[in-house]
Amino acid sequence: MRGWLAALFVCSLATSPALAADPLRAGAEAARDRALTDTTAYDFIESVSVDVGPRLAGSEAAARARDWGVARLRALGFQNVHVEPFPITAWSRGPESAEVTAPRPQALAILGLGGSVPTPPEGVEGEVALFHTYADLLAAAPGSLAGKIAVVTQPMVRTEDGSGYGAMNPPRRAGPSEAARRGAIAYLVRSLATGESRAPHTGALNYQADAPKIPAAALSVIDAELLDHMATRGAPIRIRLKLASSSGPATGWTVVGDIPGTEHPDQLIVVGGHMDSWDPGTGSIDDGAGMAITVAAAHLVGAMHPPKRTIRVALFGAEEMDFSNDAFAAAHQAEAPRMVLIGESDAGADRTWSVQFPKGALALPEIKAVTAALAPLKIVISPDPAKGSGSDVAGLVRAGVPTVSFRPDTSRYFEWHHSAEDTLDKVDPAQLSQSVAAWSAFIYVVANSDVDFRAAALAADKPVATTAPTGPAIIAAPARP
Ligand code: ZN
Ligand code: ZN
Repeated sequence: MRGWLAALFVCSLATSPALAADPLRAGAEAARDRALTDTTAYDFIESVSVDVGPRLAGSEAAARARDWGVARLRALGFQNVHVEPFPITAWSRGPESAEVTAPRPQALAILGLGGSVPTPPEGVEGEVALFHTYADLLAAAPGSLAGKIAVVTQPMVRTEDGSGYGAMNPPRRAGPSEAARRGAIAYLVRSLATGESRAPHTGALNYQADAPKIPAAALSVIDAELLDHMATRGAPIRIRLKLASSSGPATGWTVVGDIPGTEHPDQLIVVGGHMDSWDPGTGSIDDGAGMAITVAAAHLVGAMHPPKRTIRVALFGAEEMDFSNDAFAAAHQAEAPRMVLIGESDAGADRTWSVQFPKGALALPEIKAVTAALAPLKIVISPDPAKGSGSDVAGLVRAGVPTVSFRPDTSRYFEWHHSAEDTLDKVDPAQLSQSVAAWSAFIYVVANSDVDFRAAALAADKPVATTAPTGPAIIAAPARP
């Protein structure tokens, strides 16, 4: 990693007539190069990991995170720093345990899913109905799981683009209600994870209104595989599960700060990551990294010279339990027409491997300046337009705000995500800097030009004229597995 960074500095020191003629490209390259030696992002993650720690929305720790975020943004020179409160249902975990009681005793490593109802204090015990795939569970007849604990052991596929995780969201989010509809008294799902650790990985569930709410937890990958092996012996497996949790009305907070624009302060570029995290780790990669990357990039661009447009950062307060998107969209609905762009970073601290720009943007000279700056960072410029970039900005994207999607390599991310292993040591400073560099080059150009992504999208929808396209060299994205 160090080698290619060093090579990059050498090549970027050379000046060329092309750079002199294109101040946007020169600025983007300068922002990129500054980012590669800037430690703002790493320091941000180090501090949120050490000084705040895990911060479930609605918890005492989330209130500390709010105060920490305000102080941090002010210390970095952001203006207008303020807190936007919104109502949430806070969920908190109590003591949890699970064990096989037959055919032989075996303690299991589990974590209750976020939002799960508790079991009775004595727990629930039942025979296991084991499904190797989620489709097998969905194929089970109504009533066939009466009195049983449903267990889904389908593994998640490791992919660079995170698609393996997206594909396995339904077993975690909808699985509990699907099992309950068929009569199950509790639900266990193999962790949505790619590692070989015994640490279970949590995440939110979504109970459906027409099904009883049953307790639900994630099994460690290792224990899910043990149950698969046990099932081959043919003897009935019984499990006892105890989950304690509580939930109730509380407040979430999104922390916002601006770098005011000089020429068009009313035109907003909104970037951010989410402040809340799951409780077992320190929330370093999810989403300490996303906050750090976007805050560091915005700060760095603002420190070069005051931007023409306003750059706003948002530290979203309740992503994991699905509350901050609606709250942020509602609070900023009136500003949506003057938001030039909105983007979120929420896929870890590893290097960015691909970027999707707003629809039609690849034809714009401003974005050609960005793609030139990104080339030495070895980032695939996707021909596909960005459709979204994070769940906290989805509402405003649906309202028509253009978005960008910088995609970190998630090959390692799901080894640690939502588990006790989401900690600072997983952050590779060189890879983190590469992502900050990519965001910085892009934000520099959008903040210091009049680039209009809405117009670009409209132009892209028009029938193609007769002349040959003159777009940048595009490396086709590999087909998704
Ligand atoms: Zn996240
Ligand atoms: Zn998460």
